[in-house]
This record gives sequence, structure tokens and C-alpha cells, in this order.
Amino acid sequence: MINVTKTFLPPQSEYTAILKKAWDAGWITNRGTLVKELEAELKAFLNVPNIIAMTNGTLPLQIAIKALGLTGEIITTPFSYVATTSSIVWEGCTPVFVDIDPEYLTIDESKIEAAITPRTTGILATHVFGNPCDVETIEKIAQKHNLKVIYDAAHCFGVTYKGKSIFEYGDVSTCSFHATKLFHTGEGGAVFCKQELYDTLYYHHNFGHAGPDVFNGLGINAKMSELQAAMGLAVLKHIDFIINARKRTFNIYLDSLKNNKKLKMLQVRKNTTLNYSYFPIISPTESINIKIKDALEQEGIMARRYFYPSLNTLEYVKGKRCPIAESFAKRILCLPLSHDLPEADQKRIIAVVNKVLND
Ligand SMILES: *Cc1c(COP(=O)(O)O)cnc(C)c1O
Repeated sequence: MINVTKTFLPPQSEYTAILKKAWDAGWITNRGTLVKELEAELKAFLNVPNIIAMTNGTLPLQIAIKALGLTGEIITTPFSYVATTSSIVWEGCTPVFVDIDPEYLTIDESKIEAAITPRTTGILATHVFGNPCDVETIEKIAQKHNLKVIYDAAHCFGVTYKGKSIFEYGDVSTCSFHATKLFHTGEGGAVFCKQELYDTLYYHHNFGHAGPDVFNGLGINAKMSELQAAMGLAVLKHIDFIINARKRTFNIYLDSLKNNKKLKMLQVRKNTTLNYSYFPIISPTESINIKIKDALEQEGIMARRYFYPSLNTLEYVKGKRCPIAESFAKRILCLPLSHDLPEADQKRIIAVVNKVLND
């Protein structure tokens, strides 16, 4: 079976050699040397001023909402993974959905201002498949209306925009290091923020501890363990290989499918270096999309409907209609992509897609 992605596993001996440090220290969590080492290596690799490693990619969203003091309404995108919306609701805020741009699939910045009310405190938007939002326009709107900006950058490991890490935009950016993501620690994630927010986010992720018996405000437990960090350190040594292998596969899809006029591909914003984490195709109709998915499944190939359903249709939100997001959510399919997709398998996938489209 071919899955939509395949977790990169480092040679086991490399992982255990790093784990041995935790054994030698007798220390497997509470920000030991491996978490600190991973943070230092990630800061250097990503070229960012600060990072806090966390235990997954969802708690950073919740902690960011809390740390920025967001209440009331948060403007957000309906086209993302459910964690973007659920984090808003989990923090007791109301998601206000703004429809997406039909080219970039990110929140449509031209529709944000119309959604602002006196209760709006922030914007939580997703850089979809590593494709950046219009960060400049969003920044201007946020300044004008005194709103905070959080980016769910779960897909963006290694992405740069205008020569800068995409994680540097917004008040806070978050990333996921889940096993299905480009860079992973099994489960894991991180926040990136402006310097003045670092301490608050840091205390929030560790119960508010400022010492064994001293607390600096409210906190929760989002600490990354040494075992997760060991995986991250082992994977990071292979990151260039991972990205290059995906790039090769991504480009084969692009070359083979871009001339099929029935398909729409993701448009990537200018001045972006992509990380090749997803290869979505957009069919003309939902029924063709489902036909492609089913035909692939018949061959043991598991494509996934990312992102479906449109988040404004979740039963626990009272989302307004977002016709563009709803339409794309029904028609989009992410084809298998990983560091290890044999070219012969990829040719089969492409053949199935073309066959359904040309039927
Ligand atoms: C994966 C993902 C998350 C959640 O990350 P976890 O590490 O699984 O908690 C959040 N947002 C988006 C867009 C994602 O793809």
C-alpha cells in the first residue's frame, strides 16, 4: 500500500546513539539537554531568533491564543486542518470565517476588514501547504485595527518568504513536528514569536514555573520530551535529503500534470521557497475528485482529501457560508508525496489520475 505520506525514519542506530545521552543523564523530560540541543539546531537551520519546542503542533496554537490575550472573535480561515478552528473554540473564543483566495487557497485578505467587529481581537490564518498568506496586507490590517496575528505554519518547516523564515511573520507562528509532517519528532511542534512574547509563551508551556516553587502566571504542560527531541535531532541530520527527494517527486508530478487543463494546481506566492510538503490537485467537480480517489484506492494508493470538510461547516461552529473554501474542500486531493516514493509508483499514480480525467 502507498500512503499519502511516509514517515522518514532515521537509521535506528543513529536514533539510539542520541537516546543514549538521555540514558546516561538519567533524564527524559523537563527540558533536558536534547530539547535544548534541538532548539539550538533548529534556530540555526531555520535562521530564526527564537523557538520553544512543544509536545505537538496544536498546543502552540492554544497557548498563542492565551498568551496574546485573545478573547471574543478571532478571524480565521475555513481551509485548514481542524486544529486551527478547534484551538479557537477550545480557548473559549468564536471563530469568524473569512473565505479563501481561489488562487493561493489562503485567507482572502481583501475580505478580512469586512469581518472585523468591536469583539475582534485577532487573526489566526494558515499558510496552506506551505504557501504563505499575504502577510504584508494582513500586517497592515492588524496594525490599523489593533489586532494580533497568529499563523498556523504547521506545513512550513524550512519555507522562506522574501528571504526570511516564514515563521518570523505575525506575532506568533506555530509549527507541527507530527510524524506525517516534513520534519518530525514523532509527535511534536514549536512556537516562534517576537522576542517580547517569548517569556510569556515559555511560562505558559511549563505550568507557569519560574522555579521549583515559584509561578509566573497560569500555564499548562506542552513540554517536548527528550525522547521526542532525540528523534528530531536524528531526523534533522537528513533534512536536506528529505527536502531534495520530495522536490524531485513534486516536480515530476508538476511536469506530468500541469498540462492537463482539467486540473488546477496550487499557485505559490512569489518570493517563496517551498518545502515540497504536499502535492494537491483540484478537480473540476467533487464527483471527479472522488472518482480519482477511489480509482487510486483500487490500486492500493491512499490519497487524502486535505482539507475536507471546510471548517465553517463543523457542527460546533456557527460558521457563515464560505462558498470558495467549500468548493475547493470538495474538489481537492493530496497525492502521495514523501522522501521515498519510487518513480514507478509515481508514474502509476499519474496514469490513474489522467485516466479518470480523460474518461
Ligand atoms: C498537523 C497540523 C496541525 C496540528 O499539529 P499536531 O502536531 O498534529 O498537533 C495544525 N494545523 C495544521 C494546518 C496541520 O496540518
